[in-house]
Amino acid sequence: MPRTATCRVLSVPRHLAAGLAALALVASAACASNPVTGRREVSFLSEAEEIAIGQRGDAEIRREMGVYHDEELQRYVTGVGERLAAVSHRPTLPWTFTVVDVPAVNAFALPGGYIYVTRGLLAHLGDESELAGVLGHEIGHVTARHASQQLTRSTGGSIGVLLASIFVPGVAPFSDLASAGLGTLFLKYGRDDELESDRLGVEYASRAGWDPESVPRFLTTLSRLDAMSVRGVPNWLSTHPDPGSRVVKAAPVAASRSEGARDRNRDEFLRRIDGLAYGDDPAEGVVQAHRFLHPDLRIAVDFPEGWDVQNSSEQVVAQLEGEQVLMLMRAASDANGVALDDGARKHMRGLGFTFEHGALDTVSGRDAFVGLYRGKARQVGAVRIRAAHIRAGRQVYMVAGVAPEADFARVDAEFAAAVRSFRELSGAEASRIRPNRVALYTAKPGDTWQGIAQRAGRGLVPATRLALMNGHAVNTQPAAGTRLKIVVEG
Ligand SMILES: [Zn+2]
Repeated sequence: MPRTATCRVLSVPRHLAAGLAALALVASAACASNPVTGRREVSFLSEAEEIAIGQRGDAEIRREMGVYHDEELQRYVTGVGERLAAVSHRPTLPWTFTVVDVPAVNAFALPGGYIYVTRGLLAHLGDESELAGVLGHEIGHVTARHASQQLTRSTGGSIGVLLASIFVPGVAPFSDLASAGLGTLFLKYGRDDELESDRLGVEYASRAGWDPESVPRFLTTLSRLDAMSVRGVPNWLSTHPDPGSRVVKAAPVAASRSEGARDRNRDEFLRRIDGLAYGDDPAEGVVQAHRFLHPDLRIAVDFPEGWDVQNSSEQVVAQLEGEQVLMLMRAASDANGVALDDGARKHMRGLGFTFEHGALDTVSGRDAFVGLYRGKARQVGAVRIRAAHIRAGRQVYMVAGVAPEADFARVDAEFAAAVRSFRELSGAEASRIRPNRVALYTAKPGDTWQGIAQRAGRGLVPATRLALMNGHAVNTQPAAGTRLKIVVEG
């Protein structure tokens, strides 16, 4: 949910996948030499086309994920990235490096030289050389033209599917569901591509003067993250081969390149990320387990227990893993300023849904119109929707559950309960939701991760996470005098 009245999902790559395919349609296959291997290969995309795809994708990423508001930090990351790009196989691309305002640990690249790291990733890096290793890896995806090759390999059926998903008139809020699986075209490179990018990350980091051992070091952090993750893994992991096996592969490559300059710049790096936002940004709403709270809009919803809740700048989406059933909440601006029942029906019609029946009601003391609707979602087919349009303050919010016809009756009670849970937050409740930040702490003799997490960190993040953020396993204690990252209330 946004800062004011309109909600952030990491669905971007799916739109990008569509854009990629659209461009591919007009591009014709040509033979080009791979900048990294020098081999001739069939490629759909010229360099100009790669850049065009990148530009389009970049605009979407900036809009959907948001750029992290710290120009000094952006300049710093850009500086590191440019040093790497200059020694890469494609130094003349219009490289850009951007920290996106996303709490998850992730990094990704678009064709044409657009590289992104999340603020969540920065909080988990140990020093500048690890940043260089990650940026070098992403630069490697671009220089070795992995996206372009993947697109070329996936000609035939899958491009047809992608094109269908662009040109079929949309049911906008459900496009996530409709295009589920397509986004992987964009981010999910093959195992060989990932290993090649790890090698390129080592190569570029060492050529530019950084310690190339940073690559296996950060991959170790990733494998710890992988091991402690309760449900699912961050994107960067799930779309990559097992990080443990990558450590094994990258370590000897790094060792063979680690003579010469070995900058790590730990102090400089820590100074740059001191104060970095950590976890959800309350200004856009926070997810606490299955509950969503927005302190500025002063609203909260309890989605069904055990569902995965994701917040984006446009909407909040809750999904039941492994099922084509979802709930979402977003601002329904078209329903503002008109009678609630008319506004609700108009809003749903605009999304492509047909009204069945419904009635004016109240939800947590607020006027609401609760209706049942039918429609079609791409790749799912006929769906039914329970949607409540609720007026809170001057804004109308929609809280809706959507399920395939056959599943609707089974999940409708959960939809209805979540809709009923919508409520306004008191000023006191809202003011208790504070942003968390990265701060620096110098370890004292006898400190343990548990002690630091509880005392300095006030229990905001557990000891295992704190150790992991600092490149340690939780059972090896920090040495006295070491500067560490901790998480504090903002
Ligand atoms: Zn990768």
